[in-house]
Amino acid sequence: MELRRLTDRVFYTMFSKESDRPVLGYINGQTRSLMVDSGNSKFHAALFNEALRKEGLRKPEIVAITHWHWDHTFGMHAVEGITIAHEKTNDKLAEQAKWEWTDIEMKKRLAAGVEIEFADTCIRNEYPSLSEIQVVTSDISFSGTMEIDLGGITVELHHVTSPHSDDSVCIFVPQERVLFIGDAVGVDYYNDCHLDKDKLRSLLTAIEGFDFDMCVVGHAEPVSKLKTVAVMNSLLER
Ligand SMILES: [Zn+2]
Repeated sequence: MELRRLTDRVFYTMFSKESDRPVLGYINGQTRSLMVDSGNSKFHAALFNEALRKEGLRKPEIVAITHWHWDHTFGMHAVEGITIAHEKTNDKLAEQAKWEWTDIEMKKRLAAGVEIEFADTCIRNEYPSLSEIQVVTSDISFSGTMEIDLGGITVELHHVTSPHSDDSVCIFVPQERVLFIGDAVGVDYYNDCHLDKDKLRSLLTAIEGFDFDMCVVGHAEPVSKLKTVAVMNSLLER
């Protein structure tokens, strides 16, 4: 796994499709560093740490989560840093932490419509041994916004309205003019891939309000603010 440099102090690793691993972010402060999303397993989190080590960067002391979906959160138990998530994210994780991760129970949840096919398939690709799945809530939870000082650089967590999930958090790095949005610009896979345009409009207003150049998204290459806004406008017109 290759660590890519976006700005002087912001890095990311690429997504992969087979088991739906998302982009992971890294913000390098003088006294602390912050990882964006935990990866979808201990394997994914370990590869991220290995990529950091190769670049001579320390393991993140803080891990901030963009939303509850498994691919962004199932590595939380394996990271060494303190984890931070929105309270709605933790509500969903607490629910999933009670689930049994066996073939039979997963099939039952799929049949009942609690889980979706796409996630079920990708989870099975990531975990040859389902018993290795561990779901945990974060060490710290917040609502609204939260600001974190990493030493010479601050990171802001903003809960936003999003059509993808109710707990979506944007992670803004003002000094580097970078915004991490996870999957916020996307349909709701847990509601028949519905695109709620009112929520998308609200998200567009929020995103336009952040003063940034580059946007890091969950499952694609980083894009400019102009492109992000254009994509959102075309989705609204559809
Ligand atoms: Zn998602």
